[in-house]
Amino acid sequence: MKLRKSAAAAAIAVLALTATACGGDSGTAGDKPKGGTGGEGQPKLPTYSVAKDVKVDSATLKKAQKRGKIVFGAKNDQPYLGFEDTDGKRSGFDIEIAKMVAADLGFSTDQIEFKTVDSGVRETTISKGDVDLYVGTYTINDERKKQVGFAGPYFMAGADLLVRKDDTAIKGPDSLKGKKVCSIVGSTPLAEIKKPKYGAETVELAKYSECVQQLLNNEVDAVTTDDAILKGYAAQRPEKLRVVGKPFTKEPYGVGLAKDDKALRDAVSDALEAHIKNGDYKKAYDATLGLSGSKFTEPPALERY
Ligand code: GLU
Repeated sequence: MKLRKSAAAAAIAVLALTATACGGDSGTAGDKPKGGTGGEGQPKLPTYSVAKDVKVDSATLKKAQKRGKIVFGAKNDQPYLGFEDTDGKRSGFDIEIAKMVAADLGFSTDQIEFKTVDSGVRETTISKGDVDLYVGTYTINDERKKQVGFAGPYFMAGADLLVRKDDTAIKGPDSLKGKKVCSIVGSTPLAEIKKPKYGAETVELAKYSECVQQLLNNEVDAVTTDDAILKGYAAQRPEKLRVVGKPFTKEPYGVGLAKDDKALRDAVSDALEAHIKNGDYKKAYDATLGLSGSKFTEPPALERY
């Protein structure tokens, strides 16, 4: 476990380094922002007004109110979505979703604690109560609903392929026969690409940044996961990587929470609805995911249950 962790940390460090070093890897002058939100001249992030005296009949929320802090699980290696820089600062669209929801539940940005939780351990982490809520490119599906609850969807992605720029052989999921494809334990795109019809050989790791490193090292031929995630990696290294651009699944993102906490689920859905309506959602998108070349589309309709 320790080894795994340090390998992951090393992979992130390498990515962070190559992303930061203008001359080295990408070589472009005006390098893209490192992991999320832009600098000068870039769209600005919204600020969220914090609700007062929030009353929701939710054990999770009451505990959070008592401790004066709300705990969100998130990713730390997905540029423009959920990224943590070397100073521990988090940025990205999912991080903004967390801030919007937190504000409507009565917590300021300073009262959010983020914990990194990777795809393979999301359900167990949420159901143990180690996080109050989870925002991390988390696809809503019936299988997962047996263990956790979801508010949303707040975004629609689709599985795609990241390849080396000079690779012209991989044109879509149908050209993966005999190819090595890296993806993440516990993720829906991995489950999809393992289907015999694709004929791919899979390499299964814990973190996306490790897969990207393997692609750059010529150890695998492609990385598969959601297009929104892959575009972030491609935007960081436009000279080396490209997204194929043929999404082959639907991945509706939800905020994960305890399975039977309907009151909290409704409150989170209300928050998402309010921030979509008042324009914060679009503003947050433009200042995060929008910078990686993902075009803005209206969010899917919320599915309350
Ligand atoms: N959205 C997909 C999933 O939830 C892939 C991205 C991820 O692993 O977070 O499995």
